[in-house]
Amino acid sequence: MNRFSKGLKNKDIIIVDTTLRDGEQTAGVVFSNQEKIRIAKMLDEVGIHQIEVGVPVMGGAEKTVIKKIASMGLNCSIMAWNRAHIGDIKHSLDCGVDAVAISISTSDIHIKHKLNSTREQVLESMVKATKYAKQHGVYISVNAEDASRTETPFLIEFALAAKKAGADRLRYCDTVGVLEPFKTYDIVSELIKKTGMDIEMHTHDDFGMATANALAGVKAGARYIGVTVNGLGERAGNAALEEVIMALKYIYNKNYDIRIQMFRELSEYVARASDRALPPGKAIVGDNMFRHESGIHADGVIKFPGTYEVFSPEDVGLQRQIVIGKHSGSNALMLKFREYGINLTEEEASRLLPAIRRSTIEVKRPLFDKELVYIYEDFMHEQMGK
Ligand code: MN
Repeated sequence: MNRFSKGLKNKDIIIVDTTLRDGEQTAGVVFSNQEKIRIAKMLDEVGIHQIEVGVPVMGGAEKTVIKKIASMGLNCSIMAWNRAHIGDIKHSLDCGVDAVAISISTSDIHIKHKLNSTREQVLESMVKATKYAKQHGVYISVNAEDASRTETPFLIEFALAAKKAGADRLRYCDTVGVLEPFKTYDIVSELIKKTGMDIEMHTHDDFGMATANALAGVKAGARYIGVTVNGLGERAGNAALEEVIMALKYIYNKNYDIRIQMFRELSEYVARASDRALPPGKAIVGDNMFRHESGIHADGVIKFPGTYEVFSPEDVGLQRQIVIGKHSGSNALMLKFREYGINLTEEEASRLLPAIRRSTIEVKRPLFDKELVYIYEDFMHEQMGK
């Protein structure tokens, strides 16, 4: 066993980032090797425990960059993805990674229509590949692809066979994102009870529940959580790294050694590299997380941020912003103008508000600082004229 897998065994929760593998499999997303290296470095700096970096059997630039990342001396464990073929694993071993994921479908729908195979052959290929990897001393995740549509007795048989062949954990893949949290809890509890295996949650967001399902798995005893930055990934994407870690911290009160202050920077970098803009309403790191406009909310936050914020903007590298728009109140307006060095009286603020509301409805957006100042100047001009 290598130094990384020893470390993983002792941890309470292990975050496995697959931005560079599943994330890059998003239709239309390609990272340059330079970007892959930078993302790997950033994930390591953030304190992610294991990163899945790609598929060595693809060869060419993909294999080169995996080799490079494995040789950079990062603190995190470096995992490569493989089909249950010895040939794939040979390519991974060439790259010097310390961990391999060995993936094969377990659902009848995949076995019949994709693999054109049988359950027996699936078990045989998985066991062969796992034993081979085990002989070479790497850490092994056996991935049950489409596990969430697999009949439970066969999934248990598969997991037990993987364990016997030397697998260190089972990746439970909700490949098409059809789980919901209650079912997830039940099935993961049963898997752990009947197999005693370490489980990794790998959840997709087709019904918008990837993060919730990942957390339900953790509640049931899974110690590994597969994530991607910004939830990048096939179709609707995967559980988002920033959502999972912040939920663990602020909803479950679990504190891990993760540098959450880097989250916005990391998200922005991956958004640019993947050419997938960060939506303003993105949970945890979106621009709107700490922008307050409505009079009641802005007033609350000005008096005490905890009224409408669960964590501080600085926690994740964002800034609070009071936005002046259609729903603003005079208190927010007074605070905003103080930023420009203008001290409005309460009376002035309430007299300015109607003009500001008119203007924001006209342009259908909050107002820029300059526009606010113009409205104020016009207002003062009128006052002097009177
Ligand atoms: Mn996936």
